[in-house]
Amino acid sequence: MTVATQLNHKKELGSVPPPKLPSIVDIKNAIPAHCFTKDTFTSVRYLIQDLLLVAALYLILSPVEHYFGWLGLFAWYWAYGFVGFALFVVGHDAGHGSFSDYEWLNDICGHIAHAPLLTPYWPWQKSHRQHHQFTSHLEKDRGHPWVTEKDYNDRNWLQSGFAAFPLSGWLKWNPGYIVIGLHDGSHYWPFSRLFENNIDRLKCAFSVTCCLICGYTAYALLGYSVYNWFKYYYIPLSFQGLVLVMVTYLQHQDVDIEVYEPEEWQFVRGQTQTIDRKYGFGLDTLMHHITDGHVAHHLFFTKIPHYHLMDATEGIKKVLKPYENTPYGYKSESNYDFFFKFLHYNVKLDYLINKSKGVLQYRVGVEGERAARKNH
Ligand SMILES: [Zn+2]
Ligand SMILES: [Zn+2]
Repeated sequence: MTVATQLNHKKELGSVPPPKLPSIVDIKNAIPAHCFTKDTFTSVRYLIQDLLLVAALYLILSPVEHYFGWLGLFAWYWAYGFVGFALFVVGHDAGHGSFSDYEWLNDICGHIAHAPLLTPYWPWQKSHRQHHQFTSHLEKDRGHPWVTEKDYNDRNWLQSGFAAFPLSGWLKWNPGYIVIGLHDGSHYWPFSRLFENNIDRLKCAFSVTCCLICGYTAYALLGYSVYNWFKYYYIPLSFQGLVLVMVTYLQHQDVDIEVYEPEEWQFVRGQTQTIDRKYGFGLDTLMHHITDGHVAHHLFFTKIPHYHLMDATEGIKKVLKPYENTPYGYKSESNYDFFFKFLHYNVKLDYLINKSKGVLQYRVGVEGERAARKNH
């Protein structure tokens, strides 16, 4: 009996125990050993590369605006969104410890990458770890919190409208997630619920101070003009926030994605509910393959630096091959229409319902599967 037939057979029983999945050690053994090597020089080179790209964008800003007007500025904002997110990914590796073997260097470079983006490095390192440790866990996987039918019905018109409103992507990250602290607590306020002890609170104060210094420096460089600060610093950063929200949303949200109640959740099972997406146009390379190498990143988030993700992905494809056509196979998609897909899914994927005991899926996915079974 293949894994797929076993699953279909068990589905009729209502409860679907997962098939025996490879252990994290099995998966690790399928990945070439060099993928687990952190090369400090390469990591620093990428940090410098991304800082130079941001600097280059500011160098061309004035001619772009002069010759192409508001349209040029809008295109520049998008470019800043992707380049800013690339820099963010380098800081993200530092937060995971996959930047180098030296924690002090990771912390310095992480702050250099994240503070200009107004992201407090240590607080986000803490909240992001939770997402990795409990991927697809109904209660513990935060960031883009899972919405059940009950949550959906309990929302007021403002909450449900905001979730589906296309422009919300610009606000969800900053101020929504990191400043106001929707769902996880503020990353800017040392006494928010995100922090459990005084060391965390001190670290928050330090990281926030770095952000404030960067924000003030930008204000000074822009002639102490609040208008210029928003136009040339905060709004570009809101595009970086939008790219971040879009990328992280599409990595874990799809019609067929499964989400598990605590008793059904297991680490590898949860991690297989991640999708690699190709954005094309050179963007995957620019964004350090956090888009099309996300499955590999999820499984070994502290061990594989971004420049080895694609090699590691080949190994993962092989080890998950027997699970093809089951919910636990390797998932990838080309999404050159990524922005429209993101907007569409925000409306289409409304809430999760149970597909079997302890296993949830988006309503549209469950209903689609039931309809397909009826027609068979
Ligand atoms: Zn993720
Ligand atoms: Zn991560």
